Amino acid sequence: MDLYAGVIVDVRSDAVNRVFQYRVPTSLQETIEIGHRVLVPFGRRKLEAYVVELSSDLQIEEAKLRNIIELLDPEPIILPTLVELAMWMEQTYVGLLSEALQYMLPPAYRYGKERVGTKTAQYVRLLEKDPQLRSNAKAQRRVVEILQAESGILASDLVERSATSHATLRALEEQGIIEISTVNLERKIEWDVIPDPKLTLTVEQQRAVDLIRDEMHGARRPVLLHGVTGSGKTEVYLNVIADVINQGKQAIVLVPEISLTPQTLNRFAARFGERVSVLHSGLSLGERFDQWWKAYKGEVDVVIGARSAVFAPTRNLGLIVLDEEHEGTYKQEEGSIRYQTREVAIKRCELVGGQVVLGSATPAIESYHQALQGSFRLAELTERVEDRPLPTIHVVDMREQFEQGNRSMFSTELQKELRELIHTDNQAIILLNRRGFARFVLCRECGEVLECPNCQVSLTYHQGDARLHCHYCLHREVLPTKCPKCASRFLRQFGVGTEQVEEVLAKDYPELKVVRLDADTTRRKGSHASILRKFEQGDAQVLVGTQMVAKGLDFPNVTLVGVLSADLALNFPDIRSSERTFQLLTQVAGRSGRGEKEGRVIIQSYDPTHFAIQAAQNHDYLDFYRKEVGFRRQLGYPPFRRLTRILCSGPKKKTEECVRHIHDFMLKAGFPPQDILGPSMAPIGRIQGRYRWQILLKSDRSPAAELRMLPPGPEDVQVSIDLDPLFML
Ligand code: ADP
Ligand code: ZN
Ligand code: ZN
Repeated sequence: MDLYAGVIVDVRSDAVNRVFQYRVPTSLQETIEIGHRVLVPFGRRKLEAYVVELSSDLQIEEAKLRNIIELLDPEPIILPTLVELAMWMEQTYVGLLSEALQYMLPPAYRYGKERVGTKTAQYVRLLEKDPQLRSNAKAQRRVVEILQAESGILASDLVERSATSHATLRALEEQGIIEISTVNLERKIEWDVIPDPKLTLTVEQQRAVDLIRDEMHGARRPVLLHGVTGSGKTEVYLNVIADVINQGKQAIVLVPEISLTPQTLNRFAARFGERVSVLHSGLSLGERFDQWWKAYKGEVDVVIGARSAVFAPTRNLGLIVLDEEHEGTYKQEEGSIRYQTREVAIKRCELVGGQVVLGSATPAIESYHQALQGSFRLAELTERVEDRPLPTIHVVDMREQFEQGNRSMFSTELQKELRELIHTDNQAIILLNRRGFARFVLCRECGEVLECPNCQVSLTYHQGDARLHCHYCLHREVLPTKCPKCASRFLRQFGVGTEQVEEVLAKDYPELKVVRLDADTTRRKGSHASILRKFEQGDAQVLVGTQMVAKGLDFPNVTLVGVLSADLALNFPDIRSSERTFQLLTQVAGRSGRGEKEGRVIIQSYDPTHFAIQAAQNHDYLDFYRKEVGFRRQLGYPPFRRLTRILCSGPKKKTEECVRHIHDFMLKAGFPPQDILGPSMAPIGRIQGRYRWQILLKSDRSPAAELRMLPPGPEDVQVSIDLDPLFML
């Protein structure tokens, strides 16, 4: 019988973005499988490719058919369900098939990267106990003497210790005196062994576990676990994972990169021991390869990792947990396939009959909406464990502070709290929320933020042309000299750094030892963990940082959390700025009072009556949800309609032409004009010399099918399609 393979060639290009058919030679018919990496003739070249279909139907002219040359690995490197998932991703997110497949590969195989395989080394053993050596063979004698004292040793160590060369070793091997063999070295990941406390589930935790079990053996709808900070969501996951393992299946636990702290990992290691593998970007390529391979070989029950671990090669997957499911890092923001991990997890579980659990204290509006609609199940943990109260939150109006003459970045309330910390064991976390370029203009007297007249988003000052820009339409204006509301001249661009905060703290409170956690201090491998360890051990009393300090940390001595400016997130030019503000404030507040002592939170704001801040202050998710959803419905934003961003980047003139060409095409193709926003310059109009223009499209269902028809841009203009983007810079 004839057998044909559909393959995708491993080349990142639009021109080859489809399935090509090849004949499977008889010699390979028994062994070839979907997911195999193969070598195929392509034009005059030979290319690596992946098998995605096998069938006896010939779909091209027989005369054009060519043979697969060979299989490149003994086993198919991509699991069949992951091939299926990749094809779905390409359909859903509109991008390159070869790129969708990259996510399914062992870390070291991805294109553009150096290929490292299993780490091997040369290992030397003595075969003859007391060999006869020529009297002048001094180097050989030294080697033998070392080997007589040890049962075996790595060749490289041996060469170094005996001050000789590999040639000496080969000479000894030829005489049959030693054996040189190749061994695999596993790059071990270190876990701290911590005791695993046997906890009795609270009534609410038990109810949540039961609900998930019920769903797992029933309709398998995704379960949204909405639990306040400190309510013990992890304990719920651990119990459900244990169930899954008992059924002989595996679980994948996804956490935001930032929460992949030793603290989190150790909790899983304590419960599931050796049969856990971990995948994240802090590991070396070789370490990641080994961890991936352990999962592929079925040596682990649980895989913990950041976003891309959703593609971990577990063959009998029973469960995917997304902790902090609302986090922005679950959205892939690069490449041609900009996937949302939540959607991918749901699809993967649908393919294999697995269960999805989404956990958060502040669920994404989209997720909660689905839960209320009934497509997700909702489980709730409304209280902290052991009757610990949620912290009290105090919002300080920074406009009043200014009026009273306080020019410091710390309000009098926060100053008082910091002073009270001195001579206690209590600790504080100070958050300075500052994203890349959150530079909006604010009136220090009345709190007015300069906004676009058309778009309800704050204007951003661009140094380039010294003008205020709207990132949603084309509006631009000169920076006014006076506040349009109160005529004050104290209009100021916002933006302080964490370093500055640290300096001021050191000067004003020399008694308090401060550590800083931000992108600058965590650049070196391991520094993130060591800073947190220092804080955990009480070597520092105050932790200052960016968003990094807001999430997942569980330190019982933290009784004070200070947020220097809630508004920096609020005035971010984005439809999700209120949501992100509410999430951030709730999450960071949740770091306070997790131990026996009660917690306090001070939030400083120029807009203290904003509904996102008020809802966070009252620990009222539902209140926030209802108000936010009202705006979203009115404006036709997700979750009511889908929002797609088409971004073109490249040389100035060509990019503008390209975006206009696409715009014309969309109008001709029948997209309703009122649903197309733009074209306009992207919020960051130029990155690394490339100009950036965008079109936003609102639609009632996924526009993927129509968008596949878009004309390709010229060679040097990149066109990317982003379905429901989270950040639109
Ligand atoms: P969340 O992720 O919901 O913020 P965690 O899962 O980090 O909360 O749990 C908070 C703390 O409560 C942890 O120190 C955990 O060990 C503890 N905890 C969880 N469940 C229980 C329980 N049933 N009894 C006692 N302590 C618990
Ligand atoms: Zn003003
Ligand atoms: Zn505008």
